[in-house]
Amino acid sequence: MAETKWRVTVDTDLCIGSGGCVLRAPDAFELDTARQSCPKHEVMAPSDDVLEAAETCPVEAITIVEEGSGAEVFPPAD
Ligand code: SF4
Repeated sequence: MAETKWRVTVDTDLCIGSGGCVLRAPDAFELDTARQSCPKHEVMAPSDDVLEAAETCPVEAITIVEEGSGAEVFPPAD
């Protein structure tokens, strides 16, 4: 069975550039010159830090889905 990967996106219409995700998961996120968060990689290994960054983003701008299956990791499916 293939190793699970996460596809991580940031909605730049929502991101307010707080930098929280960069502090929590500096390997996964960076702020661009417009102070918008960008995932450093579109697809990455599952990580508690990345999940915590998504959970604590003040505007819920971060979405995580499982690569391949498309299963919602965050926000979780109802
Ligand atoms: S925590 Fe949310 S609002 Fe703050 S920089 Fe990251 S994506 Fe943007």
